[in-house]
Amino acid sequence: MDESSEIPRCIPGDMDLAPAFAAVLRHWVDHPESRESNARGPSPDRFYGDTWFCPACGVPTTEADGHVRCTCCHGPLDGFMWDLIEKHPHKLIERMPPS
Ligand SMILES: [Zn+2]
Repeated sequence: MDESSEIPRCIPGDMDLAPAFAAVLRHWVDHPESRESNARGPSPDRFYGDTWFCPACGVPTTEADGHVRCTCCHGPLDGFMWDLIEKHPHKLIERMPPS
């Protein structure tokens, strides 16, 4: 997350962030001990899809059992998904064809 200008940006996702939402992400980044409170209840049928990035580590996330988690710090992005999908469409990333 680039916060050097008035409009924060998600660099990996190539998208602008609303300043209020960037503040929520910043709080999540700065308080790793409370990240787990952002997890939603288990829901094996819930699937967000697409490619997302951890605002703390900048690495892609993985999705399983209804949770979107960072592959590095394992923090859940679940509570951000509605805002990310509905308010901040990411640049589409070309996927590898199935092998
Ligand atoms: Zn992370």
